[in-house]
Amino acid sequence: MASSPCLLMRLVASSYSVADKAGKLVRNVMSAGDLGIVEKTGADDLQTKADRMVQKSICTSLARKFPHLTIIGEEDLPSSDVEEDLIEAGQYNEILKHCCPAQYSNIKEEELVVWVDPLDGTKEYTEGLLDHVTVLIGIAYEGKAIAGVINQPFYNYEAGDGAVLGRTIWGILGLGSFGFQLKEVPDGNHIITTTRSHSSKLVNDCIAALNPDKVVRVGGAGNKIIQLIEGHASAYVFASPGCKKWDTCAPEAILHAVGGKLTDIHGNAFQYHKEVKHMNSAGVLATLRNYDHYATRIPHAVKDALVP
Ligand code: AMP
Ligand code: MG
Ligand code: MG
Repeated sequence: MASSPCLLMRLVASSYSVADKAGKLVRNVMSAGDLGIVEKTGADDLQTKADRMVQKSICTSLARKFPHLTIIGEEDLPSSDVEEDLIEAGQYNEILKHCCPAQYSNIKEEELVVWVDPLDGTKEYTEGLLDHVTVLIGIAYEGKAIAGVINQPFYNYEAGDGAVLGRTIWGILGLGSFGFQLKEVPDGNHIITTTRSHSSKLVNDCIAALNPDKVVRVGGAGNKIIQLIEGHASAYVFASPGCKKWDTCAPEAILHAVGGKLTDIHGNAFQYHKEVKHMNSAGVLATLRNYDHYATRIPHAVKDALVP
């Protein structure tokens, strides 16, 4: 008799459905037209009705099914009853057809930390740059990002009639990443993707020192990892604090599952245990291939300015 799926596979399968529902909520809030924008720390740090609603949906849906998980969401929300129509109870059965990597087959709920960014790229969402937006659910074990789900609610929104709107990408270390076509930037072509709404002199000095052929400025950490795995950029370089653990956990797992590397600007791996500091103070450096090409060229002055 086939054994029942391990906890990790069930959690990723549920996270897939929960992220899919989140994508629908993100689209619905946009089409209803009232975004309910609130400034958090300032004009470049926004929260909308979609951020709030989706965080409630994801965190409550997962907590009901997996009550012993630690779930950390970006938004600081007052505790309140969650409407039943925000709950997603489904799971994506395709994921359960895959075998759980042996090293994760005996994990218990108490040992997992789930990092939730209900809407990554909020600034771009409010400006109508809709395909920059993603929903991120990252799963960490022993402080390491081991699995992730990225929903892109407006994928294909400019593709015209007949194109399916939205998609979900998922990945598990030791298994691979799915839901997209892996593509590399041709060797020797250096395309850097970075922030479009959180630039600074340091961010731009760092990019200039790397002497890229092209710079792709787009919103969202999730979206920038999609640029790497789909061959639109060769490195994600962000020499600034500002990005948090919920921004990097799911993207890191998906990138690492296809052989890429994501670290801070010094080359340190991120930790994702539940007590870790949320801010990625020393920036982000990520590539699908040729990590060392970029890591060895980050100027000392940039490193000195970013304390982990
Ligand atoms: P970006 O590449 O600018 O879209 O940033 C990626 C993620 O990090 C998004 O979730 C941003 O909100 C967050 N982030 C980056 N820099 C800052 C900042 N200076 N203040 C607030 N959030 C930031
Ligand atoms: Mg974010
Ligand atoms: Mg967010």
